[in-house]
Amino acid sequence: MDLPRFVIPAQEAESMARGSKLTVLQLLPSLVNSAKGLARPPISHYHVGAVGLGSSGRIFLGVNLEFPTLPLHHSVHAEQFLLTNLSLNAEPHLRYLAVSSAPCGHCRQFLQEIRDAQDINLLITSEPDSNQFQPLSNFLSHPFGPHDLLPKHVPLLLEPHDNRLSFLSETHLPSCNGFSDGHGELRYAALEAANKSHAPYSECPSGVALMDGEGKVYKGSYTESAAYNPSLGPVQAALVAYVAGGDGGGYERIVAAVLVEKDGAVVKQEDTARLLLQAISPKCELTVFHCG
Ligand SMILES: [Zn+2]
Repeated sequence: MDLPRFVIPAQEAESMARGSKLTVLQLLPSLVNSAKGLARPPISHYHVGAVGLGSSGRIFLGVNLEFPTLPLHHSVHAEQFLLTNLSLNAEPHLRYLAVSSAPCGHCRQFLQEIRDAQDINLLITSEPDSNQFQPLSNFLSHPFGPHDLLPKHVPLLLEPHDNRLSFLSETHLPSCNGFSDGHGELRYAALEAANKSHAPYSECPSGVALMDGEGKVYKGSYTESAAYNPSLGPVQAALVAYVAGGDGGGYERIVAAVLVEKDGAVVKQEDTARLLLQAISPKCELTVFHCG
């Protein structure tokens, strides 16, 4: 079985375009339907696919994720998935974005976390007369964003982050579902994710690392929005890595998780992370480590 692919290297994107007698830009909307097929929306059954072109020439896919039994705000929107996918792959900028349905207000807002967001070009494939890209500023005029709250030098989403966090104490690691050997790796993967977290508004960065039954690790960094509510939790971000980098299996295959967050943080992820993981993978054990 071919694994679903959420990142297409630049050379391959160019050869796919040539093979279909398209430009790389024309290729983006042509991939939206296959992206939709990778979505996991068991509540709404409404599939959303987003296909983005980064400044490196790579193509990235994003899809929506919903989690039954949990309140809807735990969901991941396709555009959030896409930006998390870019971030996981150290892509410095999003230039073009083709999406199957008009981006909701939440996503137009989330996109503002990228520097010069107004220049990102967007195309909605479900709109019959929409055959050309338009700047994001046409979709969200008078935006509220990082420029309203942060000094210019503060790194924005997709820019390199180093939150300079380290563990408060080198405590002994408990064994977890028989994966005690991999637990140290998981712990440092979560710390690395916390160090890349975009949390300039609360200054409470955090990161999660998940491990599947085969010992493969998936990292996710908490990502804040200037408008707060569109922020994406670290478990959701790690689930993006799991869906994008895994073998297409269900969440029950996640057997261990580590969350790293600041001691005494005013924005704490622990309770929410536990709730989400309990709902999607009841056997997964979550261990929390504090950093400073
Ligand atoms: Zn949305």
